[in-house]
Amino acid sequence: MSFKSLGLSQAFLKAVEKQGYDTPSPIQSKAIPPILEGKDILASAQTGTGKTAGFTLPMLQILSQGQQLRQRPVRGLVLTPTRELAAQVFENVKSYSAYTDLRASVIFGGVNQNPQVRQLRNGVDVLVATPGRLLDLVGQGALSLDKVEIFVLDEADRMLDMGFLRDIERIMKLLPKKRQNLMFSATFSKDIKKLANGILNHPVQVEA
Ligand code: AMP
Repeated sequence: MSFKSLGLSQAFLKAVEKQGYDTPSPIQSKAIPPILEGKDILASAQTGTGKTAGFTLPMLQILSQGQQLRQRPVRGLVLTPTRELAAQVFENVKSYSAYTDLRASVIFGGVNQNPQVRQLRNGVDVLVATPGRLLDLVGQGALSLDKVEIFVLDEADRMLDMGFLRDIERIMKLLPKKRQNLMFSATFSKDIKKLANGILNHPVQVEA
């Protein structure tokens, strides 16, 4: 199996090569083709499986092939439970989008919001965010989520453990109805399945 055979285009093959990856990990082999086909995904994957590249690479490819809107509203939204994970996913997004003209940004709580607001004002195609700060900034009118085409919920089980269910529900209401959803979780409790039912549309299920 090669990254090329999964359907990734030149810009992303180059980025993957620069990272020094030879072959896709199992979760990447299973998740990348259906994501590129536009399908919703429910993935069971722990950290360390390469899941971040598994959703980031195809998301960036879809967005880079889509129509770039003049105002550069957020078209790809990745929600993570912690600021550490947000920063980590953002680093991945930056590396994998190096050979595209996509703009990415990250927002999380616990730090001054002004630099984040300034970045958003310039236009951001892909936003990685924690739920609280995202809702704060939407509430202040610093960004809008009504042009989101791809929504990623990373580490959904940790999200629920940390009490983010209500925030997630609020965020879902701000997204367009027609969108692609990718949900990742290490475990699958009843609550996670219920959340998945509310978010995903005929998902393809993949396991690492
Ligand atoms: P993740 O599970 O997304 O946190 O990724 C775990 C680590 O695996 C990260 O340091 C990635 O850079 C690395 N990684 C992701 N995909 C591959 C791959 N196909 N080959 C080798 N390393 C990878």
